[in-house]
Amino acid sequence: MKVYSHKKQLLHHPKTYFSRGQMREPQEKPERLHELLKAPKELGIDVITPDDYGMQAILDVHDAGYVDFLINGYKEWTESKEDLGEEIQTTVYVPYNNAGIGIMAKAAKYQADGSAPIGRNSWESIYWSAQTALAAAVNLLENPDSLDTRVQVCLTRPAGHHARKSSAGGFCYLNNAAIIAEKLLQKYKKICIFDTDMHHGQGIQEIFYQRRDVFYVSVHGSPIDFYPVVAGHADEVGADEGKGYNLNFPMPHGTDEEGFFEYIDKALTEIESYEPDVIVHVLGFDVYVNDPQAKCSVTTNGFYELARRLKTLGKPLIVLVEGGYCIDKLNENLQSFMKGLI
Ligand SMILES: [Zn+2]
Repeated sequence: MKVYSHKKQLLHHPKTYFSRGQMREPQEKPERLHELLKAPKELGIDVITPDDYGMQAILDVHDAGYVDFLINGYKEWTESKEDLGEEIQTTVYVPYNNAGIGIMAKAAKYQADGSAPIGRNSWESIYWSAQTALAAAVNLLENPDSLDTRVQVCLTRPAGHHARKSSAGGFCYLNNAAIIAEKLLQKYKKICIFDTDMHHGQGIQEIFYQRRDVFYVSVHGSPIDFYPVVAGHADEVGADEGKGYNLNFPMPHGTDEEGFFEYIDKALTEIESYEPDVIVHVLGFDVYVNDPQAKCSVTTNGFYELARRLKTLGKPLIVLVEGGYCIDKLNENLQSFMKGLI
C-alpha cells in the first residue's frame, strides 16, 4: 500500500464560514491532517511526498477563469479599497449574467456558497491537495502491474467532491476525484468514482453527468435540508450518453450502521457489474457516529468493514480521504480503514 500527503496542505486555515443561517466555527481545520498523518506512522507505513505534476490535469477539469481566481483572487481581495475582511467570502452567488468585473463579482461567480473561504495560503494547500491525489494516479499509470499500486491512499486537504467545474463550495476548491479520473482515462477506459462521504459529491456528479466513461456512485445522507441540498436524489441518473451512469443512494437521516452497509452492498453490486478498470474511492469519516456532520452511525470498526468489502472487488483502488470532523477520532478511524485494506 502507498500513502501520499504533502505538508503544504496544512497551510489553508479558514477563520470562519457561513452556513445554515449563521457564521460558524471552522470544522475543516489543519489539525485534521495532523491527526490523519498519525495513522500511517503508527502502522509503520511511509508517507510519500508527491512530486509536482503541474497545472494541466487541473485545467483539464476546471474552468481557467475559476482557477485564476483561486490563484490570484486573494491578492485582489486584500488590495481592494473596500474593507472586505481577511478572507474571500461572498453572500452573493450569481454564476451566470455576471461579467466578473471586480473581485466581489468574481467571488460571486466562483464561490457557490459561504463554506469555502479563501485566505492567504489557501491556494498552496489546494494545489498540493490536487498533486497528492495525482501522485497516486500517475503511479498507477506508470506502474500498472506493480503490486503496491493496487491500493493507494491519499491524505488530501482541502477535500474536493463539492467543487464544480467553475466554483468552490462546501470546504472544496479543486475536484481531486474528477481530476484523477480524467488523468486515468489517458490509459484506462472505465473509471468508477465511489463516494461514501456523508455528503453527496454534487461537483463530481455535475462534471460527469453526461458521460459514461466515469461512473459516479454515491452513498450519502439525504440532501433534503442537508448539504449540498440541491442535488443527490435517487432520480438523478445521468443524461444523454451518461444516462444510467450516475447512481445516488440517499440515506434517510438516522440510518444505523447496518442500514449503511445495506446501501454500500447495493452500490458495490452495481460497481461490480460496471467492471471498472480503476476505482477512485472518496472516503469521508463524517459518517462516523460521533462526527458533528453525521446523519448515520458508522463505528470505528465499520471503516475496517468498508475497506474489506471494497477490496473484494479486486480492482486497482485509489482512496481520497476527504470529509471527517470528529478530529480526535480521525487517526483511529483511518487506522481501522487501512487495516481493512491490508
Ligand atoms: Zn462530507
